[in-house]
Amino acid sequence: MAKITLSNLRHSYLPKPGKPADYALKKIDLDWQDGGAYALLGPSGCGKSTLLNIISGLLTPSEGRILFDDRDVTGLPPDQRNIAQVFQFPVIYDTMTVYDNLAFPLRNRGVAEAHVDTRVREIAEMLEVTEMLKTRASHLSPDNKQKISMGRGLVRDDVNVVMFDEPLTVIDPHLKWKLRSKLKELHQQVRATMIYVTHDQTEALTFADQVVVMQDGEIVQIGTPVELFERPQHTFVGHFIGSPGMNVLDASEDGGTVRFEGQPIAIEGKVTGQGGATQIGIRPEFVSLGDAGLEARVRKVSDVGRHSVVEAMVGDTSVKAIIEGAAPEQGAAVHLAFRADQTRLYRDGWLATEIAS
Ligand code: ADP
Ligand code: MG
Repeated sequence: MAKITLSNLRHSYLPKPGKPADYALKKIDLDWQDGGAYALLGPSGCGKSTLLNIISGLLTPSEGRILFDDRDVTGLPPDQRNIAQVFQFPVIYDTMTVYDNLAFPLRNRGVAEAHVDTRVREIAEMLEVTEMLKTRASHLSPDNKQKISMGRGLVRDDVNVVMFDEPLTVIDPHLKWKLRSKLKELHQQVRATMIYVTHDQTEALTFADQVVVMQDGEIVQIGTPVELFERPQHTFVGHFIGSPGMNVLDASEDGGTVRFEGQPIAIEGKVTGQGGATQIGIRPEFVSLGDAGLEARVRKVSDVGRHSVVEAMVGDTSVKAIIEGAAPEQGAAVHLAFRADQTRLYRDGWLATEIAS
């Protein structure tokens, strides 16, 4: 096991990169502690797989260094990095049995058969595939193939890191939630550093203690699920996490007074910086309907089970509120209130408020 440090990492797939857009990874500095459960979360194309492949050694970065426990491994091939990687699609040997597939990474490294047997059975128990051990892999369903693929990633006890690249893509929706919680459990049992890559916020937030949010080849925020939800450092994180995401509303700011649709709005603390495109960020969970507040008209009400999402227009701007209990009718005139301690100001996308500590 090891601490992983990425230092000044940049990567371009082009032979002669110039402008920032030529880089799939723009500038990455990151420390991953030994034994942690991490997620790398971001939309398709933001550079997640590129970053994983650089850590595992499948790719050499254009610039920067990768350190394991302060040892520079940037130039080392994958087989000298002690990393297990689970890909989006199952990587298994169809002609072998499940047992032999799980045993392969160990036998390949000359592990004694007695220990191979112990590990294979342990991992099979954890993944609930013991009764399939004698089955030939070609007979398995896609779900089970991917489970075995994960097992191959988890079976070695000498790995520094286990990395999963969108491993639940091929898994049936009804099995997804089960495997998701299984992986969390596995991390607690195995205690290796795990990096889980996904574009799905639910997967990231259930698995990880720390989530790294990426956009366009850059890290926008690193935090616990609660931190990402409560104080997004960037409007992108606000949008991307939550369902529906944060309301991001065009606003003006002058001498610390923030206005939205002409009305003064109380925000969480002191405004920092100046200029730039200013926006207010408030999550739908913290917008309430009452007798006082911003005048609005209800455009749409969606019932999503335990609560309703009310979309109301304040002037020309749509604001979403999550409401428990009775929701207003479409077209109704309502008043919206923003909870001040949950109302943030952003400048050019970045958080621009300070709270007294
Ligand atoms: P993600 O895994 O987040 O979906 P990737 O790391 O696969 O993103 O891709 C990041 C960017 O790099 C994308 O713009 C993608 O088109 C580009 N890219 C990925 N792999 C290659 C490749 N082998 N050659 C050229 N461009 C690539
Ligand atoms: Mg990818």
